[in-house]
Amino acid sequence: MGEWQFQRSGLLCVVSGPSGSGKTTLCRRFSESDGAAVYAVSATTRAPREGERDGVDYHFLDRAGFEAGIARGDFLEYAEVHGRLYGTLKSEVLGHLAAGRDVLMDIDVQGAALVRAASDPAIRAALVDIFILLPGEAEIANRVRARGTETEEQLAVRLQTAREESRHWSEYRYAFISSDRETDFATFRSILAGERCRSHRLRNITAEPNLSSD
Ligand code: 5GP
Repeated sequence: MGEWQFQRSGLLCVVSGPSGSGKTTLCRRFSESDGAAVYAVSATTRAPREGERDGVDYHFLDRAGFEAGIARGDFLEYAEVHGRLYGTLKSEVLGHLAAGRDVLMDIDVQGAALVRAASDPAIRAALVDIFILLPGEAEIANRVRARGTETEEQLAVRLQTAREESRHWSEYRYAFISSDRETDFATFRSILAGERCRSHRLRNITAEPNLSSD
């Protein structure tokens, strides 16, 4: 008698949270440490920060290039954040999901709402949305200042966005308050571990007919 074999469909993990919540680091670290997960590299019209590489951190596009992509239907979702366009290319997501890989996306609350409202039932079934909260505004300012990539003016814009975005935490299936890096990573990993075991994601592909579910 052969062994039971199961195939699992991929998760579409959407992570939002204010600047400095560590969402990008969590998504990247998880995808680098787990062979079944990939990070969806977004496209943006914002300028690269020092050390950021095109095609690795973002696909950096000018506004005309981004708008041409919108017109072609290249984007799964896109939104204007801090006066710049940000979006997820379908090519970064759909093939991986079809192959049973988990896709991690770090996107804003508008983008998350668009993914939640997607007409494709496979996208909605794959979706796992997580909001990372920070304990207060002072902590957001501290973390953004510590990163050292933003001017005081940009910081003020990010604080305002954080205030607005943080109102949406309860629209997400999961929300947790960020603590230290390791604790956050353990929380993140356990959410994904649980989601991977949801029965509707599994399909019994055992060859012998008497072993398939009935
Ligand atoms: P940053 O400029 O700090 O890299 O990102 C600014 C904001 O844009 C963050 O809230 C981030 O989650 C969001 N963002 C990054 N990529 C995307 C995307 O592909 N789509 C949407 N809707 N938001 C994104």
